Amino acid sequence: MPDVQPIGIDLGTTCSAVAYIDEHGKTAMVRNAEGEVLTPSVVLFDEEEIIVGREAKKAAGVEVGKVAECAKRDMGRESYAKLINGKEMPPEVIQAYILKKLMLETEAALGTQVKAVITVPAFFDEVRRKATTDAGEMAGLEVLDIVNEPTAAALAFGEAAGYLEDDGTPREMMRVLVYDLGGGTFDVTLLELRPGDVRTLATDGDTHLGGRDWDQQLADHAADAFAAQYGSDPREDPGSLVRLMRAVEEAKHTLSIRNRTKIHVEHAGQALDLSLTREEFYDITAHLLERTAYTAGEVLRVAGKTWQDVSKVLLVGGSTRMPMVPEMLEKLTGIEPDSSIYPDEAVARGAAVFARYVMDQGAGDKQPSFTVVDVNSHSLGILGIDQETKRKENVIIIARNTPLPARAARNFVTKTDNQKSIVVQVLEGESTAPEHCSVIGKAVLRNLPPGLKQGWPIRVTYQYGTNGRLSVRAVVPGTEREIVMELEREQGLSSDRLKQWKQTLTAEVGRKRSASTIPAEQQSVMTPTQRKAPPAAQRVAKAAKTPTATPAAAAASPIAAQRAAPQATTTAPQATTTAPQATTTAPQATTTAPQAATVMQPAATEVVSSPASSETVLRPKNKKGLKVWYYLAGYIISATVGLSIGYVLMCMINPEADFLNIWVPGVEAPSEEE
Ligand code: ADP
Ligand code: MG
Repeated sequence: MPDVQPIGIDLGTTCSAVAYIDEHGKTAMVRNAEGEVLTPSVVLFDEEEIIVGREAKKAAGVEVGKVAECAKRDMGRESYAKLINGKEMPPEVIQAYILKKLMLETEAALGTQVKAVITVPAFFDEVRRKATTDAGEMAGLEVLDIVNEPTAAALAFGEAAGYLEDDGTPREMMRVLVYDLGGGTFDVTLLELRPGDVRTLATDGDTHLGGRDWDQQLADHAADAFAAQYGSDPREDPGSLVRLMRAVEEAKHTLSIRNRTKIHVEHAGQALDLSLTREEFYDITAHLLERTAYTAGEVLRVAGKTWQDVSKVLLVGGSTRMPMVPEMLEKLTGIEPDSSIYPDEAVARGAAVFARYVMDQGAGDKQPSFTVVDVNSHSLGILGIDQETKRKENVIIIARNTPLPARAARNFVTKTDNQKSIVVQVLEGESTAPEHCSVIGKAVLRNLPPGLKQGWPIRVTYQYGTNGRLSVRAVVPGTEREIVMELEREQGLSSDRLKQWKQTLTAEVGRKRSASTIPAEQQSVMTPTQRKAPPAAQRVAKAAKTPTATPAAAAASPIAAQRAAPQATTTAPQATTTAPQATTTAPQATTTAPQAATVMQPAATEVVSSPASSETVLRPKNKKGLKVWYYLAGYIISATVGLSIGYVLMCMINPEADFLNIWVPGVEAPSEEE
């Protein structure tokens, strides 16, 4: 065994798994301390200790307020959906506890230190990817890279089915559809595997569709039947509800192998054994299955392919064990889905293959044997203003499903004569309406030289790395003014809080720890302001001073740089990418005519960090003088108040100091007679 072992971690919504590369160079699963391959992604925050996995899952029905489940669904949000012990907690901290257990037990099992590749759903956006890396960092885990789950799954199937060489290179061209239905999420991806090339063609998914939704349908069915019989509803009591959810999940599992089962429902001292056939189960949940088929069809359509173009169907995720899934896919594709690997091991195994590949490359002594090309799962755009309609719009610069790394540039123009500053607001989302997109970063280019005519060109370039990092560059030709911004997420933990949490998790020895070692302020409720990253302007100011020193995102990561050829370079004014899948990557037509159609807004003196105040951005910059007067008035007022208080205090101590002869509380005024 090497000193440091590359491992792959499938950090799942409901279950997590770890794989490594064994002494024969093949992937193998790691067993946790309980001797199991799958670790429930559940954390129990007990007074005494923090427990992850099977025991935590058992406690979920009893200690409802102490157990965190499905934190992955909330990644990227400020706090986990539920209060834990009455307190808010960031979802990435919960994930960090899971990673910590996985890491420690893997190191114990393998007898080496580990470096990991963690997988995320392909549709995870930038914020959620970063939150996942943060979770790894807090756990004290060295994260080699983040890789998309379907890509990992394809690598694992490739290895198992023998269509990869020993070094991971695909032997022949195959078009693989990865259908991943887990506990809480659905993810479908079309990949093309060629010798030396693993390429994602298109991907889509649903963050809120998974086995749990099948459970929910069954739970509603059973609870309705119970309510009809006894007049009381088990969903109204948290304890009964948790037990009901466990019962229906078990029934669902049974129906994967048997044709009928019974659901045992208990509530308010009464019990019901409801029998259920596989047929009935199919009927109750048909609309959910239909939704997955629709999404899969969309992925094929976007990639310009049909069901008949699929040469292999890979089933990933525990929910694909429901027979209705392979049955449906076989009907659609005409081929039997591959079952050469357990659906809940594929992702971790593939991540291990990928981790080895990353480490080999990092060692620098091996030429990369194959390249992995992913796509961006959400469009990245910029807030512009349509010159004719004057409406704000999301101008897409790198369209979704563009192979990564991608580079695209687009020209804009200034809005007014003598414009002094420009706001670059980076949006993520498909809609042209900015309000339907999320703002993922903002920067202001200031101090443009005076006398610029309206319509002066501005060139904005996005560089999106394979590691999901975005670097934005805005240049005003002829002015030597440019701005470079390495995008950091605006939401999420600040680096200080991240460090604090890391210390908290590091202080823990083994799996047992005292909850009281969580610093009090970390247990407390977090307000949005506490969690806000520094304003974009501050981060950008640094970059703007040394514009050429900021490396492009891909170049910043040695792995990313080698991972794929820069096939998506775009230089045309309209940002038409020259990538192979041009059909999928064309920018939205609504972004209008070349050049002058979209303008960039000037900025106010200050960077406005909240979208709500973005209106002020449009105002010209003559507010500076006014502000100075405000400040001056403020100084004068506070100085006067301070002096008066000082005078009164002085007089209270020594009435003789009252040379103005005013009334001072507690000091008797000299009487007139005297
Ligand atoms: P995730 O990746 O979201 O953590 P998994 O791939 O581990 O999810 O899948 C978990 C889901 O798979 C759960 O909803 C579970 O009920 C379901 N599942 C596991 N085994 C079976 C089975 N035999 N039949 C039906 N569903 C199953
Ligand atoms: Mg999964």
